[in-house]
Amino acid sequence: MIEAIIGRETPRRRLMITVGERHAAIGNDYSVPQTVSRQQCLLQIDGENITVTNLKPEASPIFVNGMEVISKVITASDHLQIGKGIYNVDIQQVLDAISKMPNPEGMYSITHLREVWDGYENTKRKMMETESRKNAIKGLGSVFMMLGAAVSFMLEDVGNAIRIVFVVIALALTLVWIIPAFKSGTSMQVRMDELNKQLRQKYICPNPECQQFLGLKSVDELLRARKCPHCKSKFSE
Ligand SMILES: [Zn+2]
Repeated sequence: MIEAIIGRETPRRRLMITVGERHAAIGNDYSVPQTVSRQQCLLQIDGENITVTNLKPEASPIFVNGMEVISKVITASDHLQIGKGIYNVDIQQVLDAISKMPNPEGMYSITHLREVWDGYENTKRKMMETESRKNAIKGLGSVFMMLGAAVSFMLEDVGNAIRIVFVVIALALTLVWIIPAFKSGTSMQVRMDELNKQLRQKYICPNPECQQFLGLKSVDELLRARKCPHCKSKFSE
């Protein structure tokens, strides 16, 4: 069970999340109203079950799905609002921030990066497969063209009509298969660049002070190296 206190950060007024000695802040500067207490509520997180409790009910209310509550069991999809000035808490964002906090030994868990890495690898593999299928089609088109030329050359006796048919078939295959295959060849490069860009944005060190791209290394490789290549923070499962 994780116990997190959430409330207003001073002086930047982001949403402050405190778990024991550790802190994280989410949201934009000055987004949390002054009426939200610095220790507004307690989240007790036990797997899927989350209990929210207002720690300052006499000063400021909290609402779950529009109803004022003192304490209530909620899920990440419930609508939590805190304070008189009403601040909408994105519970999933709070849970994500907590999962990225260093554990008590000062280590950062990088388990959440597995999904990012696996997604990257899978998409890349699918792109490669599509690309090799397209190359096969390109090759096949060329084979048909050569066959067409060879057959029309060998069948000199059959007359022009059949030769023309072969040439037309070869040309049609060129248009239908080869040209689209070449066209999508360029968009493959574009999609690959986009995929790499996304990885650089998401596959980053969980230390809020660092957040550098961790490179083209799998989570297992990073765990074997045991630390961030940039800030040297320790990594764990
Ligand atoms: Zn780092």
